[in-house]
Amino acid sequence: MPVPKAELHLHIEGTLEPELAFALAARNGVTLPHADTAALREAYRFSDLQSFLDLYYALMAVLRTPRDFTDLADAYLERAAAQGVRHAEIFFDPQAHTARGVPIGTVIEGLAASLDRAEERYGVSTRLILCFLRDESAESALATLEEAKPYLDRITGVGLDSAEIGHPPAKFAAVYEEAARLGLRRVAHAGEEGPAAYVREALDVLGVERIDHGLRCMEDPGLVERLARERIPLTLCPLSNVRLRVIDTLADHPLRQMLDAGLLVTVNSDDPAYFGGYAGDNYDGVRDALGLTPDQLRTLARHSFEASFLEDDEPRRARYLAEVEAYTF
Ligand SMILES: [Zn+2]
Repeated sequence: MPVPKAELHLHIEGTLEPELAFALAARNGVTLPHADTAALREAYRFSDLQSFLDLYYALMAVLRTPRDFTDLADAYLERAAAQGVRHAEIFFDPQAHTARGVPIGTVIEGLAASLDRAEERYGVSTRLILCFLRDESAESALATLEEAKPYLDRITGVGLDSAEIGHPPAKFAAVYEEAARLGLRRVAHAGEEGPAAYVREALDVLGVERIDHGLRCMEDPGLVERLARERIPLTLCPLSNVRLRVIDTLADHPLRQMLDAGLLVTVNSDDPAYFGGYAGDNYDGVRDALGLTPDQLRTLARHSFEASFLEDDEPRRARYLAEVEAYTF
């Protein structure tokens, strides 16, 4: 069994495997432009963020009913559990669905039906994080948070994702302020393709508690020192970084230097159906490419639970951390 871990950077829409895409397309009478699952899997071999996003949004057409979202989350949780995930904080992108006429309630109720049974079925505890698309307007983000208000009991926090360049964190200051007022936790993608300055801005203007990716903080020593001192978690996604050409190969990943700098780094899968692996595959990938020791792997697993939003259930966090310490590599 793989080491117990929390997954903190996972887009549920990015877990849509070709087989499920075709099954949902058939169920909903949606025609996909690909001949079969093999052709679709071939299309998953994109080469940059924009070509990935184009395919990602096109395939969402198969997600229409609450049951589709339930099936999507079930398929993810089963795979994640098999790779040692004990706790998952799951991102979803309501605007990608409401824009094509699927109400936010359909998305949240569908996902919640899966998450409600996740512990019993898969042994995985869960949280849901609503993400705003940063290439949409600030007004659209505010309208989305407004639409989510009847469902806030299901939502732990808000995040910010999609194309980073040209959409700095400060654009979303108002919606993050409102999220804080509502008692929601705050995270944001920053410093993936965008500069280290976006990481600072996400912390200072949006008040985020965790940075998703944050790889490019390494270009700013003062920022690295601050992230380490303030114990700000970074949710790294190594296989994603290679597929989206943020780095050339896994061997180029700065994870070891980040650990050495005392950063609270975690390893996650981002969009596993598209990027070639789930959480455990990412751990295995960095272990092999970077020669990580059992101690370093244990640190990554420990970090994942320390960085999770389990403040409302500390006994559970303590149980998970004990599982990590007891694990034999
Ligand atoms: Zn992401």
